[in-house]
Amino acid sequence: MTSAAFRRHAHAAVDWVADYLDRVADLPVVPTVAPGDIRAMLPVSAPRHGEDFTDVLADLDQVIVPGLMHWQSPGFFGYFPSNSSAPSIIGELLSAGLGVQGMLWSTSPACTELESHVLDWLAEMLDLPAAFRSDGPGGGVIQDSASSATLCALLAARHRAGADLGSLTVYSSSHAHSSVEKAVRIAGLAPDQLRQVEVDDAFAMRAESLAALIAEDLAAGRTPTLVVAALGTTSTQAVDPLRKIAEIARAHGAWLHVDAAMSGTATLCPEFRDLNDGLELADSYCVNPHKWMLVNFDCDAFFVADRTALTTALSVVPEYLRNAASDSGAVIDYRDWQIPLGRRFRALKLWLVIRHYGVEGLQRHIRHHVDLAHELAGWVRADARFELAAPVRLNLVCLRHVDGDDATQRLLDAVNASGEAFVTHTRLDGRLVLRACVGATQTQAAHVRRLWDLIAGAA
Ligand code: PLP
Repeated sequence: MTSAAFRRHAHAAVDWVADYLDRVADLPVVPTVAPGDIRAMLPVSAPRHGEDFTDVLADLDQVIVPGLMHWQSPGFFGYFPSNSSAPSIIGELLSAGLGVQGMLWSTSPACTELESHVLDWLAEMLDLPAAFRSDGPGGGVIQDSASSATLCALLAARHRAGADLGSLTVYSSSHAHSSVEKAVRIAGLAPDQLRQVEVDDAFAMRAESLAALIAEDLAAGRTPTLVVAALGTTSTQAVDPLRKIAEIARAHGAWLHVDAAMSGTATLCPEFRDLNDGLELADSYCVNPHKWMLVNFDCDAFFVADRTALTTALSVVPEYLRNAASDSGAVIDYRDWQIPLGRRFRALKLWLVIRHYGVEGLQRHIRHHVDLAHELAGWVRADARFELAAPVRLNLVCLRHVDGDDATQRLLDAVNASGEAFVTHTRLDGRLVLRACVGATQTQAAHVRRLWDLIAGAA
């Protein structure tokens, strides 16, 4: 493609994206296609000759859009959000345009140094402990996902424990994200080396149960290796008692990883910083700007208080990657902080988002979502047909119909068949629960009101 054609087509593609974001509120949030429908519209084999770019754009409308769940719709209240913004999209475009691969400092110094620097900004913005900044033994790195961060934390913890693999034990609450279980499997531990700690009435980890499980394991000669505390669980946004957990983990030399994938973004606002109480005792922490900070997927910020165990666990230096800068020890080589070797220039989009909105702009956005979620919770509380199924802490509302699971299922079905909104479910104490998370970039009060009308109308 010539430079002139690239300009023309790229401008058309950007126009297409801008139009998409302008009209996404009017598209049905949930696709209605059946399995195989999209493939049936695609040619069996690749085109033999290059095609006109205009035809490709036309196919986006005809083939791709009908098969999308519109995560950027203001009516998207499902799972946790994966929100986005124009500056982030531009950052992604620039990253693709530059096409650098930042595995080593020397393979693009700006890629590494911008990442370290922006993560230091982020640590300050989220009021994280100073140990997570890159000017000491610790520092931050961008991972693709919180799942990778948890795996890296486990690999570092496994390395630091230095004990026989079969003796290692890992602890998280029974409400921790499934990525903990997956990390345990990938790290070569048996499923029964993961201890699921009981939760309290608010679905947060019981610290005393953690202490009891650790004591039991120590008595049996096992090595408590990793504790994962969640600041905002996936089902209910429950917050584990971090300080108590941290003290227990520290007393027994276990690595403490804090998973704040979704909810950590709230600590941009001083009024939500109680979430971080005890974080100075943690070994690692992660938050996903790709969930709630207007940075499009993928961008997980993973911080360690001391990088030694992580980089020792993950560093392998073949001859063909050796270079003077790495040998000097004066630079960060992020390939040693993650599973793959290669890495994209993700810091660009985080940088653009922070520079465009500023801290205050991002705070406004978080407060707006939290206010809207609390407004929805207020309507639930005031209506005798419904009950809140979990405390509403930030921007997630868990509710059910008082008549039981069938009635709650009807609410879910009605909302999701409307085309105007999308919610997902969980189960709490065996009972079906509708989860509504307010976090899409375009969501305004009218969209939350419409969601409530749909729920109330189906009761
Ligand atoms: N941790 C928590 C608390 C989550 O809610 C999620 C996803 O929703 C994850 C981890 C996994 O996130 P990722 O998709 O970035 O791996």
